[in-house]
Amino acid sequence: MTAVSTSGDKSVDIRADLAYPLAALLGEPAGSRRDYAFEGIPLDLGEDLQLATPVSGWVRFSRTNRGIFIRGGVDTALALECSRCLKPITLPISLAISEEALPAIDIATGKPLDPDVEPEIVRLNDHHELDIEPIIREAIQLAEPIAPLCRPDCPGLCSICGESLESGPHDHDEAPLDPRLEALRAFRVDADAETG
Ligand SMILES: [Zn+2]
Ligand SMILES: [Zn+2]
Repeated sequence: MTAVSTSGDKSVDIRADLAYPLAALLGEPAGSRRDYAFEGIPLDLGEDLQLATPVSGWVRFSRTNRGIFIRGGVDTALALECSRCLKPITLPISLAISEEALPAIDIATGKPLDPDVEPEIVRLNDHHELDIEPIIREAIQLAEPIAPLCRPDCPGLCSICGESLESGPHDHDEAPLDPRLEALRAFRVDADAETG
């Protein structure tokens, strides 16, 4: 499904999937470009990571002497849990992607190119299509914070009862106090109450 956006000074093909047919671009001289936008794309990131918002963004494919250079921007949001208080949080992220891809088939001769030459590089498929979903998925996974917080000064949970400390610290019944200290403790609580 494609639609053409008329916003901005030039129209950009807005797509609802991430596999792009690039045979025509491969037939053009180095420096030729294609621009696309995509939006509302759900991604499955596995059990450990979930998106709060489907993926949107833009991508530019530039013909190089030997393949395609991919540059793009991705906006989405991660559904996470605060690492201190365990509250669900939504973390918006913006990512830049930058990657080179090579054809699998020589566009001029129609002959397959040796995939062992650069085994790590992204390849177009045999129909000269490029699926950028794996690139985006990897960039999102790399952007996942190790210890996300609902806010930088989240006080976390009480180590005794597990209640949130968001509304301030609270008291627990402690071990029975020496009666001589009890009076002192009452005095301290009063003093705290007075100072606010
Ligand atoms: Zn928190
Ligand atoms: Zn507590």
